[in-house]
Amino acid sequence: MPSKYNKQTVKDVPVEGRRVFVRVDFNVPLTPAGEVADRTRLTAAAPTIKYLAEHGAKVILASHFGRPKGKVVESMRLAPVAKVLPEVLGGAGGGAGGSAAAGKSGGHDGGHGRGHDHPVTYVRDCVGPEVEAAAAALKPGEILLLDNLRFYPGEEANDPAFAKQLAALADLYVNDAFGAAHRAHASTTGMASFLPAVAGFLMEQEVRSLGKLLEAPARPFVAILGGAKVSDKIGVIENLLGLVDRLLIGGGMANTFLAAQGHDLKKSLVEQDKLDEARRLLAAARGRLQLPVDVVAAAEAKAGAQTKVVPPDGVPDGWTALDVGPRTADAFAQAVAGAGTVFWNGPLGLFEIEPFDRGSTAVAKAIASSKAFSVVGGGDSIAALEKSGVAGSISHISTGGGASLEFLEGRELPGVACLADRGGAAQ
Ligand code: ADP
Ligand code: MG
Repeated sequence: MPSKYNKQTVKDVPVEGRRVFVRVDFNVPLTPAGEVADRTRLTAAAPTIKYLAEHGAKVILASHFGRPKGKVVESMRLAPVAKVLPEVLGGAGGGAGGSAAAGKSGGHDGGHGRGHDHPVTYVRDCVGPEVEAAAAALKPGEILLLDNLRFYPGEEANDPAFAKQLAALADLYVNDAFGAAHRAHASTTGMASFLPAVAGFLMEQEVRSLGKLLEAPARPFVAILGGAKVSDKIGVIENLLGLVDRLLIGGGMANTFLAAQGHDLKKSLVEQDKLDEARRLLAAARGRLQLPVDVVAAAEAKAGAQTKVVPPDGVPDGWTALDVGPRTADAFAQAVAGAGTVFWNGPLGLFEIEPFDRGSTAVAKAIASSKAFSVVGGGDSIAALEKSGVAGSISHISTGGGASLEFLEGRELPGVACLADRGGAAQ
């Protein structure tokens, strides 16, 4: 059966001598001094960029950056990225997901064996005569970085005229910005109407790994959901209930389900307006949804606060439930140990403050040591995973944020749907 998550990539099409427009996600955080504070997103796009440059493509990179709302905002230019990108690309090796500390010296001195030099030309616009001239002047292997796509209202409006203007710069369109794939913008989907469109390696890995969860996952499939609120994740819970063998729920979200069952969680985070929704989901789950049997209650949400492990209806007056208890953590870890597939999104407690990170750490370690195909997604979940030191043992860490969640809601992402399928027309 052909999978709809098997997309053509840069390896499936000729790239040598072609102008290749690569939509990347370079929306990196900056320091107060305006320098790149975290290179994770640059490192993640590097394998695609390096592959193209090293195979003789003329590479044109474009990204959004912040929310300039359709006009030029000086502080939202990609200049800080242009400054460090050669160093990121110059680092030896090409594996995705490298640490933020990668690229210590780049390849500029030419003394690094297999490392390649990848100079980057930066233009302070993304369309117009200056950009057209720079794109036309590219030689095979050269890299051009355009400025913020969202300086033009046509980007977020997915204006066909703007998409066509961008497409005119290139012969091939590559989308490697999975994190923006749930948006139907000119550079994430519109351009695919004008050019052959394929996936970059980051996009390929996200689509294939998340697609595996939706299409024929190895059984049993165990999902663990946490985080603060049910309301953020109702669509995901609903879709996962149709796919998983067990759905384990912890974190603040579990409080709302426990309250829906009639427990009094005292001052814990409970979404009172979602109790009916929680009851509906519990009924739909027909026993596959598992809630905490104990919680860590605390007098205050602070390090060093007085804590107590109690059953869900045993939270003392004025206290809050801030983590799953040890019996729950053990039960979740056991479920994970026997799983064929595991998906985790959402910390199981207020993991930023000790000791409320214990439930998340226990589950992270259980996932890391299980033989299951494992996917972890969500900004805070990745932070919790890294804090527990086992991020290296996860099959796939999804950095897609909102895009990952929409994917798991079963929705078709415009930035994925527009890319050519393997076995479809070669371009
Ligand atoms: P992700 O970013 O991985 O998708 P969320 O943003 O949904 O995760 O949720 C993460 C947040 O939920 C964290 O800030 C965490 O402290 C909070 N959280 C988890 N459990 C609780 C709880 N019991 N009470 C309050 N906050 C919680
Ligand atoms: Mg979050």
